[in-house]
Amino acid sequence: MTATETSISLPTALLPKDGRFGSGPSKVRPEAIHALSSLAQDYLGTSHRRATVKDQVSRLRSGLINLFDLPDGWEIILGNGGTTLFWDAASFGLIEYVSQHLDFGEFSSKFAQVVQAAPHLAEPQIISSEPGTHPLPIASNVDTYALTHNETSTGVSAVLSRPTSEGLVLVDATSAAGAIQWNSSEVDCYYFAPQKALASDGGLWLAACSPRAVERIELLASGDRWIPAGLDLGIALTNSRQNQTYNTPSLATIFLTAETVDWINESGGLQWSEARCRASSDTIYQWADARPFAEPFVIDAGQRSPVVCTIDFDGVEADAISRVLRANGILDTESYRKLGRNQLRIATFPAVDPDDVRALCACIDYIVESLT
Ligand SMILES: *Cc1c(COP(=O)(O)O)cnc(C)c1O
Repeated sequence: MTATETSISLPTALLPKDGRFGSGPSKVRPEAIHALSSLAQDYLGTSHRRATVKDQVSRLRSGLINLFDLPDGWEIILGNGGTTLFWDAASFGLIEYVSQHLDFGEFSSKFAQVVQAAPHLAEPQIISSEPGTHPLPIASNVDTYALTHNETSTGVSAVLSRPTSEGLVLVDATSAAGAIQWNSSEVDCYYFAPQKALASDGGLWLAACSPRAVERIELLASGDRWIPAGLDLGIALTNSRQNQTYNTPSLATIFLTAETVDWINESGGLQWSEARCRASSDTIYQWADARPFAEPFVIDAGQRSPVVCTIDFDGVEADAISRVLRANGILDTESYRKLGRNQLRIATFPAVDPDDVRALCACIDYIVESLT
């Protein structure tokens, strides 16, 4: 930090109560940590094949069915390794032969790369658009469409819609699940990891699967394709139905995720959660619109994410703002490195208090005034 930066000490009255604004891992609610710690003696360090843990997996699976308002026949499947591992698993257990991918940022491009490298699959169709926008799927002769609900690297969110009645629709919802509404008739597999909107820890993947997705999993798992056991969605399905995972999961992650899901369901469900996130993100976008030195990166207001706000800066170094924030206990507002912009990226997930978002804007004003 430069000498000027070091001398900036934010007035206590301006500070948010909680300084975690990271886009993942993201703020974990103190209430959930407290609940985990009250239960820890009887829960942590106990067998994941016994009722104490299986009851939490069951609570999580039924909580997600309620949260997403899923019709009969949908199932929640889970396993270890987070979303990145789920991409590998999907390349074995969900894509039959050829898929179409929407590529509009770091995360959406990664699944496409997995499929391109898979020797048992055809070259995928990839539809790209500039960072800060999203493309639309095109009805085509593929067996799987791969969409992303919220591109965490750029702060773009998309409305999910099925391009045709043929083919499975797979949606990476890692930073959207629990924060943005979606219609289950448009999707077959809505998968995510819980360290973002669900305010838990990483290392787990979860997938809400339609009957058609379950059918595809069963078909490919029983066919003659070689599938490593740890990536076998058929094995994951069998275990999930027994409220367990194929190998040992993080018990804390499962518990914290179930706590967030219950908290959202009890507070008014996904509609409530999205409204809370939109209140927070509107605060940031409107704040940026009103400042000569800041503007939302995503031009089309309809594509602006309600949970990951990307704000471009002009005439002041965004990294310098982040450094001062960090030195004052406000964390993880840095932009996504590979995007290479003079930008802050601020998460407004359900766990983030809308009052804290207002406080953060006041802190940034204070820093910009001091630096310029
Ligand atoms: C964070 C993120 C991932 C990667 O999740 P991991 O659990 O770290 O593998 C994938 N997709 C999106 C949209 C993400 O935000």
